[in-house]
Amino acid sequence: MKIPVYMDNHATTPLDPRVFDAMRPYFAEIFGNAASRSHSFGWRAADGVEKARKQVAELIGASPKEVIFTSGATESNNLALKGVAEAYASRGDHIVTAATEHKAILDTLKHLEKGGIRVTYLAVEKSGLIDLEKFRGALTDSTILASVMYANNEIGVIQNIREMGKIAKERGVLFHTDAAQAIGKIPVDVAADNIDLLSISGHKMYGPKGIGALYVRSRDPRVEIAAQMDGGGHERGLRSGTLNVAGIVGLGAASAIAKTEMPGEAKRMAAMRDRLKDRLLAGLDHIAINGAMDARLPNNLNVSFGFVEGDALLMGINDVAVSSGSACTSATIEPSHVIKALGAGDELAHSSIRFGLGRFNTDEEVDYVASRVIEVVEKLRELSPLYDLEKNSGA
Ligand SMILES: *Cc1c(COP(=O)(O)O)cnc(C)c1O
Repeated sequence: MKIPVYMDNHATTPLDPRVFDAMRPYFAEIFGNAASRSHSFGWRAADGVEKARKQVAELIGASPKEVIFTSGATESNNLALKGVAEAYASRGDHIVTAATEHKAILDTLKHLEKGGIRVTYLAVEKSGLIDLEKFRGALTDSTILASVMYANNEIGVIQNIREMGKIAKERGVLFHTDAAQAIGKIPVDVAADNIDLLSISGHKMYGPKGIGALYVRSRDPRVEIAAQMDGGGHERGLRSGTLNVAGIVGLGAASAIAKTEMPGEAKRMAAMRDRLKDRLLAGLDHIAINGAMDARLPNNLNVSFGFVEGDALLMGINDVAVSSGSACTSATIEPSHVIKALGAGDELAHSSIRFGLGRFNTDEEVDYVASRVIEVVEKLRELSPLYDLEKNSGA
């Protein structure tokens, strides 16, 4: 076992060596500009790009021409939300989203609000899930777009995207989902799930950083988006800029691997995740799991440890890479907006730890992480007068 143990796969995943192998030639002999139409250097690069576009499309049940390459899910989210707000400005000015979205959605919407867009931020239930009737009730005649993340990056809960997409479709509202955490981990199908726009990130699925994609539905309905980057007219004019060919090839390879390996991998992740959960629950009292267990990514566990500061715990387990509920905006120690949205107090948010399992974790690492966490929590609680009080009052 290698120390430190990496168990923070919601922040980023390591590059799969097979993805790296697929990318390697595109840093060397296949260096052409994919937009060069007059020679084989350009053609070979373009072939790599189009193969990757097909691989990404196949993973989500799309057609290749509906896939727009971007620099990542942050850009895809910006392009989807700003692009729709601009293209559909004459139709309406209202967008519906969830309080637990990633900052790449929330901050983009804040920006749009300054320009006159009205946004409804739906509260979530204690489970982290959005109530479908509340979702339905939020859609009005002036709603142009609903944007709800597929799976949450902190607590891993999977929203009922298929039903929300259906409700949006019935109301004639476009439906976008930030699927950065879901793609490659659980099956996603843009047709069955009634999705009009979907954001993907390469580095959350064992691909490279700095590459992503936006799926834009081309029929039933044909979705219009206004470009947010002007220039040479790449990507059907929706995202100008010379293509990151090696990154795109990497995203394609990562998609192909995910498509074939997802079923087995999901089972393995869930087994490791449950092993971690069972060990923590057996070893410690006063711990709480944040978010629904029965609608959760197979690789996620988010736990609050009562009477312990998350950041103190992180420092104690310094040979294990996980993150705390207050690490998201790590410049300031603000409790996680996601854990707070579950109705938990600041205290629980401050004591929450996110475990993100990944393709390269092992049972041995799970056991090590569980025992290190138990050891450090016990040590910290020994110093806690509040825990002492609680223990004695219970006895
Ligand atoms: C990581 C992440 C993003 C940002 O993706 P980048 O490719 O790093 O820009 C957006 N949304 C969610 C849910 C994420 O987990």
